[in-house]
Amino acid sequence: MKRREFVTGITLAAGVSACSEDHADTKEPITNINEVFEWNMATSWPPHLPGLGVGADNLAKNIEKASNGRLKIKVYAGGEIVPPLEVFDAVSQGTVQMGHDSSYYHRGKLPAAPYFTTVPFGLNVNEMNAWLYFGGGLELWQKCYKPFDLVPFPVGNTGVQMLGWFNREINTIDDIVGLKIRMPGLGGEIMQRAGAIQVTMAGSEIFTSLQTGAIDAAEWVGPYNDVSLGLHKAARYYYYPGFHEPGPNIECIINQGAWDSLPLDLQQILTIACQSANLNMTSEYMWGNAVALEQLSNDPNIEIKQIPQAVFNELRLHADNAIADLTQKDETSREIEESISSFIKKSSANQNITELAYLKMRIGSLKH
Ligand code: CA
Repeated sequence: MKRREFVTGITLAAGVSACSEDHADTKEPITNINEVFEWNMATSWPPHLPGLGVGADNLAKNIEKASNGRLKIKVYAGGEIVPPLEVFDAVSQGTVQMGHDSSYYHRGKLPAAPYFTTVPFGLNVNEMNAWLYFGGGLELWQKCYKPFDLVPFPVGNTGVQMLGWFNREINTIDDIVGLKIRMPGLGGEIMQRAGAIQVTMAGSEIFTSLQTGAIDAAEWVGPYNDVSLGLHKAARYYYYPGFHEPGPNIECIINQGAWDSLPLDLQQILTIACQSANLNMTSEYMWGNAVALEQLSNDPNIEIKQIPQAVFNELRLHADNAIADLTQKDETSREIEESISSFIKKSSANQNITELAYLKMRIGSLKH
């Protein structure tokens, strides 16, 4: 509000009418139409990684074009300007104005943060967008990030991820015991509760670790990104579905001070560009995964397998316990969990007779 008063003050002092009748609903006049903003965006991704990295590149390009060059954003790959998992701090402190990463990396600072990416057995991609844009999810997210001086936006979604690449078959829950698996976040914690050994490593290290047997299994994203890392050459079994990341939302975060410094039209361009980025990246994954899956299906060295329902059910019990522990300790997580579970209940009933019923019947009809 201070900035608005300041700008209005200048306008009046200059003897210019603050706003005409036509613009009576405009919150403030644009007095600095020629001002050019040059921002840096730190990301968590390898340079130009399909989906995630390209999503950040396109977002920056679109904002510059839509603003006619008034907001220029230089994109940095993970580690170029700040370490890949420290984007949150860099944007929060104003070292860079903007970041592109995943909220679940910030679990250590904000226990509820994973809810804005994905939580095990949580929302799928369409449900996530519905909850964020219409179900109060974005407002809860903004409230959680406010103390960190961050303004968050959803900017894309990978869709349901794969459970991952395994060099061991999983037939019963006992096969999880002693399994060395690369799976970050709450998903990894759940695997650990089921007896696995959780290993943390960056995406770039997965291939070698799987190939040398340093780990037995690893999750990354899905066919589109996994093929680009060559993971299909390092393990035999490709299990689905990824209970741990059913609809991971990617975030764009903006430093509050940097956001406040923008005129309203640039704020609006940024907001719309993020919505457009969300659609673009989500569509890219839907397309890229389908194409890459076809390639994997034809590879004789790979078996694409569904995790047995009984194992899935056991993992669900561990997930429920993990969420219960989280929500007992953290009031914010409790508030978000209640909001999501209330929506999941309604949405499950709706999805069951729409998307799920249709897809099952469409696939079933091919067999006749
Ligand atoms: Ca993943």
